[in-house]
Amino acid sequence: MKDLEIRQRDCRALREGYSRAVRNFEIASIGGYALVMAWLLSKIAPGIAENPFLALAAFMVGLIAADFGSGFVHWMADTWGTPEWPIIGKALIRPFREHHVDQKEITRHDFIETNGNNCFISTPSAAIAALLPDGTVWFFLAAMTFAMCLAIFGTNQFHKWAHMDTPPRYARVLQRASLILPPDHHAVHHTAPYAKYYCITVGWLNEGLFRLRFFQTLEKIIAHFTGLIPREDDIGKRAALVVAEQPPPPLPDLPKMVLTSIELPLDLPEVAGRSMAEPD
Ligand SMILES: [Zn+2]
Ligand SMILES: [Zn+2]
Repeated sequence: MKDLEIRQRDCRALREGYSRAVRNFEIASIGGYALVMAWLLSKIAPGIAENPFLALAAFMVGLIAADFGSGFVHWMADTWGTPEWPIIGKALIRPFREHHVDQKEITRHDFIETNGNNCFISTPSAAIAALLPDGTVWFFLAAMTFAMCLAIFGTNQFHKWAHMDTPPRYARVLQRASLILPPDHHAVHHTAPYAKYYCITVGWLNEGLFRLRFFQTLEKIIAHFTGLIPREDDIGKRAALVVAEQPPPPLPDLPKMVLTSIELPLDLPEVAGRSMAEPD
């Protein structure tokens, strides 16, 4: 892997791709997100008060779904397409390319640039959740979606903190507790060829998805049907071809199940001999 000829895009050209139009789009996305999330919260608030434990379970599932979603979108943007694509190329793919070339750039992004993209991605789900009918199952789904969209909103902020030399104190406490993306964990993704550990909300799913060969399998299927080379635009064709031919990651050593023998007490056969129907 050390000899890979990684060929990345020009950092300055990528930065210039952040235009006024993209910024306006991000401002509109943040505004739309705030409105829709307030609407969704007003819909689920009575249910939270009525059934707080169900709400808590829904929030937890939402957090895990956000971690998966962050990994999935990150993988898509890292692996396929180019910044030249209309709309998605400039708004979504370009920042991911830029992030691999200059990982500190994210720490210089202001609130709008950090959060605009994720607001755009999560607003439609939040709007659909707000329109769900009443009922326990629908409430669970709506509360889960609320937590998921909130965690997606936090994702770029958590990611930014993971790259900062001196993040705020409270962020460091959360990083140490693995409640938000820890920096050393995320550093695994930033090792060339940037082909694993895509989840950037909390990172809980990274090792599992890697061992399950989840993204690697998806890449093989997509490459087979489209003829595209995964991450060709990100690291150059030669390196991308080498990475695509890498053997799959080793499966984890599953702990062997040890069944200890049970010594039956001497008087147990008497008890075991009785039929269930017999009363004492
Ligand atoms: Zn990446
Ligand atoms: Zn990063």
